[in-house]
Amino acid sequence: TPIPDYLAEVLAACAADASGAVADYIPELAQVEPEQLGVVLATVDGAVYEAGDADAGFTIQSISKPFVYALALQQRGLEAVLAQVDVEPSGEAFNELSLEKGSGRPLNPMINAGAIVVHTMLGDPGDPQGRCEQVLAGLSAFAGRPLGVDEAAYASESETAFRNYAIANMLRSRDSIVEDPEDVVAAYTRQCSVRVTTRDLALMAATLANGGVHPLSEERVVEEWVARQVMSVMATCGMYDSAGDWISTVGFPAKSGVSGGIIGALPGQLGIAAFSPRLDPHGSSVRGVEVCRRLSADMGLHMMDPP
Ligand code: GLN
Repeated sequence: TPIPDYLAEVLAACAADASGAVADYIPELAQVEPEQLGVVLATVDGAVYEAGDADAGFTIQSISKPFVYALALQQRGLEAVLAQVDVEPSGEAFNELSLEKGSGRPLNPMINAGAIVVHTMLGDPGDPQGRCEQVLAGLSAFAGRPLGVDEAAYASESETAFRNYAIANMLRSRDSIVEDPEDVVAAYTRQCSVRVTTRDLALMAATLANGGVHPLSEERVVEEWVARQVMSVMATCGMYDSAGDWISTVGFPAKSGVSGGIIGALPGQLGIAAFSPRLDPHGSSVRGVEVCRRLSADMGLHMMDPP
């Protein structure tokens, strides 16, 4: 079967599952059409295959985390970033108020505590606006087209960001961040509110899989060691408290977000993205996870399978 037909078959097989629920702690996310479903594959040599709602827009949410981590690594270097945020799986939910015993660092950059610190490592300290511009420019470079912020989603999340204020205050109390916690959460929330399509996410993932070079624009967005570091952390921490189940069953580095997006990156091969808004208890798209499971099984994408 040609790849687009195969992808359409995968979506058809997953569409019947209407379990899970859209995120509603961000009021704007509760309003989305829950039946949306899309998948896109982007190879490292620039072939793009899609099916379903591949061009529907949604907010990037936590899928911004690996890419902003990449930008921070590129700008500050590995040592400086590791000094602030560790790379150990937390086994906890994305919004847990947790820090590593002893070092006091957030456990990893894929949970909110770590992502908020990583966000503040870009640009000049005390300049949240400049930082937001850098985030937008960086995410756009990964996508290969200019992205924008969904102002309605940003305003909506800002009204209910109590949990992230708690996390930011915890980080401020130990000087992991030095700016006003409310300003930091506002800027981090803008990062999460960048609007993307499933196609954008597949190309962003393919840029990581391609060692930091965008497959179509051929722009080097980050160095190869950065892409390796980011995909390593996605493999161990990208799926929060289901990271172990994910890596053993699906078997490739991945990252999910509460708007229903999920990406996978296969080094040297492929970027994968799927989108469907209803979430499982871990905060990952029910159908997005199932699409990835099927792609992995059908196409033999598990990293631990012999070639
Ligand atoms: N903006 C969301 C938050 O910080 C992102 C969470 C997610 O996608 N898991 O709560």
